Amino acid sequence: MAAKQPGVTVRVPAKVNLCLNVGPTDGDGYHQLATVFHAVDLTDDVTVRPSRHWECTITGPYADKVPTGHANLAMRVAQRLADECYEAGPVSMTIDKSIPVAGGMAGGSADAAAAMIAVDQLFNLQLTKLDFTDLAAEIGSDVPFALTGGTAFGSGRGDQLAPVLTTGRYEWVFALHHEGLSTPKVYAEFDRLNAHRKIGFPQVPGELLAALRSGDPRELAGALSNDLQEAAVSLMPRLQDTIDTGLAEGALGAIVSGSGPTVAFLTADRSAALDLMVALTASGVADDVVSASGPHPGARVISTIRPV
Ligand code: ATP
Repeated sequence: MAAKQPGVTVRVPAKVNLCLNVGPTDGDGYHQLATVFHAVDLTDDVTVRPSRHWECTITGPYADKVPTGHANLAMRVAQRLADECYEAGPVSMTIDKSIPVAGGMAGGSADAAAAMIAVDQLFNLQLTKLDFTDLAAEIGSDVPFALTGGTAFGSGRGDQLAPVLTTGRYEWVFALHHEGLSTPKVYAEFDRLNAHRKIGFPQVPGELLAALRSGDPRELAGALSNDLQEAAVSLMPRLQDTIDTGLAEGALGAIVSGSGPTVAFLTADRSAALDLMVALTASGVADDVVSASGPHPGARVISTIRPV
């Protein structure tokens, strides 16, 4: 019997920000954030195999929107590890992508986190937690959360994480829009809209933390907030129609995810989520509608075949 080809597959979740409080900029021009990340079971699978050449193949509904060279954050992580660690070498990478691209759900950062774990496992690099944290923060501020998953408080640029006590599971519906929104453009619009407003030190509202402890989706729905929503809607006014339609069709709460343009709707339970999916799809306000539940664990190995 032929030996199976060695390879490691890591599954990694998308995130939604339950609150995104944007504060003043730091010395490098980055806004200080106070956010609560929440991972949902909308996932990408990243597989790496040892290879003579660098290769990247993307599969799934968003394949044509994702770069396959060094611009791909997951490839960049793998190449960086090959440069730094003599045990590591080129890989053939496959990303089976279900996380919407440029949708404010941190799909690129998720794939980078997955690649880190996959390459470590494939070449037995035995990276420490500190190695992972340093590399994650260097690649992007959403990467550390993709490693931990669950529900977490993020401060600084969103990369300083602390756990948040939560109970229960939450059922979400995501309304996707094919037209992407660039995160830097959304921040620039936020700056324009807030040029004459006083921006305070960013904080997570206490009512959000209390809602997460209660496990009650109605309480959580009332506590969702996103300071970037106004800017995202200003750049893409159709987002307001999507929000209004979802709320009229029974969603408990609605929020633009991160810098958008995905709109996240919180529902009472699984059956309400399915009803909302049908209603939103029929309304035609969004280009695609998917459901997911959270919290979900961070990047995890789901299959390993080590080289013999
Ligand atoms: P964030 O919420 O972190 O701002 P996002 O969800 O809005 O991110 P991504 O899906 O991460 O956006 O993609 C942003 C851009 O990053 C894409 O347009 C794409 O060109 C590039 N990119 C690089 N690597 C990847 C990847 N592995 N998956 C998706 N996009 C990637």
